[in-house]
Amino acid sequence: MEQSLFFLNQISKTYNQGQTVPALNLVSLGIEEGEFIVILGPSGCGKTTLLRILAGLTNPSTGEVFYRGKPISGPDSERGYLFQDPRLFPWLTVGENIGLTNPPESVQFLAEKFGLANFLNLYPQQLSGGMAKRAALARALTNEAKVLLLDEPLSNLDWFTKRELQQELFRVWREEGLSCVMVTHDVDEALDLANRIIIFTPRPGQIYKDVKLELDYPRDSLAQEYIIWRERIITWSMEAR
Ligand code: ADP
Ligand code: MG
Repeated sequence: MEQSLFFLNQISKTYNQGQTVPALNLVSLGIEEGEFIVILGPSGCGKTTLLRILAGLTNPSTGEVFYRGKPISGPDSERGYLFQDPRLFPWLTVGENIGLTNPPESVQFLAEKFGLANFLNLYPQQLSGGMAKRAALARALTNEAKVLLLDEPLSNLDWFTKRELQQELFRVWREEGLSCVMVTHDVDEALDLANRIIIFTPRPGQIYKDVKLELDYPRDSLAQEYIIWRERIITWSMEAR
């Protein structure tokens, strides 16, 4: 199992906020190359904590975590991280923000790829929510990125913009041969993108269900099989509570 892309062995995480808060409890999980995993669970169940552990931004309190067989000891340019809010630097243009993680000759290329070519000289506050997320995605997807860790990247977007960005994410996942781990509390977002869904219990987060979705892409939310999967995922999510 240690040859998996990620391997988590009995991970727990406890925070100290005056009192101890258990965020994750004994999570064991193998993540394979090329997967698009969606971790689904209610607010506060430890989703961001798990993603930060995969990124190397924080350590588990107990348990072990490996990336390609090596213990994770810190962040690494192969693992791109997309924060829940875009976190663009307001004093830098879109082009300069993307340039922070990418060589100058890649900036134009990335901008074109994410539909930002006409926005390179704008500042973040001049962008729509969707454009800001595109810019954050372009910044996270460096040349070295093999894995994208996505923390509710599509939250707070209107339905149309969300659809557009889902397609964009799907495209980069496929075209770049990436592996994605996305966390969300949105069942439909999970169904639109995941080939594997892991449902977490409320805090402290534990795996309640781990299933492979046998659904073709692009997902058709009106197809019978999709609706059956949607019912299953909702039922399991309710049971997990
Ligand atoms: P989610 O992303 O699923 O909403 P989080 O991983 O952000 O969950 O948080 C899980 C629990 O851990 C919450 O109760 C939260 O308050 C707590 N927590 C998260 N980060 C910290 C931190 N840096 N310090 C103290 N407590 C934290
Ligand atoms: Mg979170």
